[in-house]
Amino acid sequence: MAIYNPKSMHAEEFINDEEILETLKYAEDNKNNVELIDSILEKARPRRIGSETHCAGLTHREASVLLACEIPEKTEQMYELAREIKLAFYGNRIVMFAPLYLSNYCVNGCLYCPYHAKNKHIARKKLTQDEVRREVIALQDMGHKRLAIESGEDPVNNPIEYILECINTIYSIKHKNGAIRRVNVNIAATTVEEYRMLKDAGIGTYILFQETYHKKSYLEQHPTGPKHDYDYHTEAMDRAMAGGIDDVGLGVLFGLEMYKYEFAGLLMHAEHLEAVHGVGPHTISVPRVKHADDIDPDVFDNGISDELFEKLIACIRIAVPYTGMIISTRENQSVREKVLGLGISQISGGSRTSVGGYCEEERPHDSEQFDVSDQRTLDEVVNWLMKLGYIPSFCTACYREGRTGDRFMSLCKSGQILNCCHPNALMTLAEYLADYASEDTRRVGYELIENELKKIPKDKVREIATQNIEAIKTSNSRDFRF
Ligand code: SAM
Repeated sequence: MAIYNPKSMHAEEFINDEEILETLKYAEDNKNNVELIDSILEKARPRRIGSETHCAGLTHREASVLLACEIPEKTEQMYELAREIKLAFYGNRIVMFAPLYLSNYCVNGCLYCPYHAKNKHIARKKLTQDEVRREVIALQDMGHKRLAIESGEDPVNNPIEYILECINTIYSIKHKNGAIRRVNVNIAATTVEEYRMLKDAGIGTYILFQETYHKKSYLEQHPTGPKHDYDYHTEAMDRAMAGGIDDVGLGVLFGLEMYKYEFAGLLMHAEHLEAVHGVGPHTISVPRVKHADDIDPDVFDNGISDELFEKLIACIRIAVPYTGMIISTRENQSVREKVLGLGISQISGGSRTSVGGYCEEERPHDSEQFDVSDQRTLDEVVNWLMKLGYIPSFCTACYREGRTGDRFMSLCKSGQILNCCHPNALMTLAEYLADYASEDTRRVGYELIENELKKIPKDKVREIATQNIEAIKTSNSRDFRF
């Protein structure tokens, strides 16, 4: 039998079934243990050390006790703490991105995904480089600067060379004042050599959702194709890091297995990355199974309510305070609104989940991966965020300035990131407003920027940011960053 060891390189040892089951039992036994719950909340609280803010985070066991606890007063305290941690490290900034689907050719048999190989009626498409160019121009014209590229797994139709060519094309397009400055990549698990190629192509985060940490369910959900190999999939982030990729993004597809099991597995994965590579996941995504072409989400028994979803997000925020959290347009406006305050730091806007979707007039399209619940335009999402008091940020400076992996984490851990992230967010928002926003959004945005500039702690930084924003408003000078 495999023994739990977070430092092991074997999936069954760092995501250890026995340890998860014991964790769930420990959490269930202690879910009303108020003294323990209070001490866990106390441990997780942000602390000022000199001019810096630090958070201890939680182990998977401690965090699982919080998730299991159903005492309303304690849940409220968890939400307050999640809000406090979010504000301490991410302020009121929300980073914007959009997915770009390159190809939906896929040889896998994933039961929840309409791109599965047996689906013979979904339109199969793969963008040519010219189509990539057109999609990217459409995305730039919306105002996007950060993309997540998505592709099915098909070594013949979508080999790594094709992905690399697309990344090259994306970075090469300079249309009006637009530019894609960061390409994150969500493609199937691959080899160290191919991860190195992605790193050399200048990608931001490598994202791979585990789907489910429960091995038996994983094997059932992925009955055929290369993705069937649980160990190869689960160990992918270690290969990505061995290939030189500093920033990796984890995720679970909620609905496939019991959420408490997934939660413990996800945190154990984060602990493993920290133990072995000295740096935890850059982001965590929280997708829920959605309706799609031949996929009925009700078939999956483990769907979670919006309330549980909120609690899950708050508990992740408390457990891994420095990790960014992403929510996509799988969720509707009202759910997104609720979870923004509880820990989400990145959201997509104006998304199309079909291959070639940004150049098509209307959705839905015949190659969509899942239904989009939040169908507002990027301008509407930006406007809404600002009216809620958030700063939509189009910033990509960190990885372009080499602030990735442990360098990003140590900045974030010391709270210092506020000194560059805040002005960077305001400058990139000013770019968006000047180049792409509707009149109302521009008005609301400039007002917000004026107020937010006053909050920059260092006089010199505030002065430079103010000058740069003036230059953005009055000229075509772009791409200022700290
Ligand atoms: N093909 C790549 C892989 O195998 O990891 C990743 C790309 S796939 C386009 C991105 C993610 O979409 C998947 O990892 C899965 O979690 C999610 N997804 C697939 N079908 C979905 C559905 N019906 N509803 C919500 N999300 C879904």
